[in-house]
Amino acid sequence: MNNSIVPPKEGRAFHVGEGQRIRIISPKGHQAADFFAYNAASMAEWLSPPHTWIASCSITPRPGDIFMSRFRRPMMRMLEDGANGVHDMLLPACDQFRYEFFGYEGPHASCSDNLMTAMRRLGHEISVIPQPVNFFTNTNVDANGRLVAPANIVEAGAYVEIVALIDTICIVSSCPFDIVPDGWEINAGGVVSELEVLVS
Ligand SMILES: [Zn+2]
Repeated sequence: MNNSIVPPKEGRAFHVGEGQRIRIISPKGHQAADFFAYNAASMAEWLSPPHTWIASCSITPRPGDIFMSRFRRPMMRMLEDGANGVHDMLLPACDQFRYEFFGYEGPHASCSDNLMTAMRRLGHEISVIPQPVNFFTNTNVDANGRLVAPANIVEAGAYVEIVALIDTICIVSSCPFDIVPDGWEINAGGVVSELEVLVS
C-alpha cells in the first residue's frame, strides 16, 4: 500500500494499475479534491465527466458508477463514497484566470497548473486541461437551472474509493481556492488543507 500526502494547494500523480484502488481522503474536511485520470498507455485518452454523465445518467458520481474516457471506454469505477454525495462534475479546473476574474493580482496556484506540473514530472507535456471530477465539492443546480456552490460541508475524514478498470495515471490536486467570493465557496472559509491518497 502506497500512502501519500498531497500538500495544501499542490498536486500529485499516482500510477493506479488495472484492478488497483485509489482512496482519496480529506483529513480536515471542507477541501475540494480535483481528480484527473489518463490511460497510462495514451495521454490522449482521459477520464471525461460529460461522457460519464451520459453513461451513468447522473451529474454527480455515485458508488457503482463507471467513469468513462472521452472515447467512451470504461476507465474506473467508484466503489465507496464517504462524503455523502458531495461531489461535482460540472466545474472546470481552476486556473490563473479564474483568480484574476475575482480580482486576485499576481500568480496564484491552481489545479490546472498542478496538473501540468505533475504530468511534466512524469515526462508528459499536456496541451489540454481535461474537465476534472471535483470530489468534496458542494455544487448544486437549483430548480431554475442556476449553478451554485454554497459552503463546503464535507466533514473531516471524508473519502472516496475508486478502482481502476485499465492501467491509469491519476492526478489529485488540493484545490488552492483560498478566496471566498460572495456565494461561491469552494473550500470552507477559503482555508486550503492537505489531502491523503492511498493506492492499494
Ligand atoms: Zn482548483
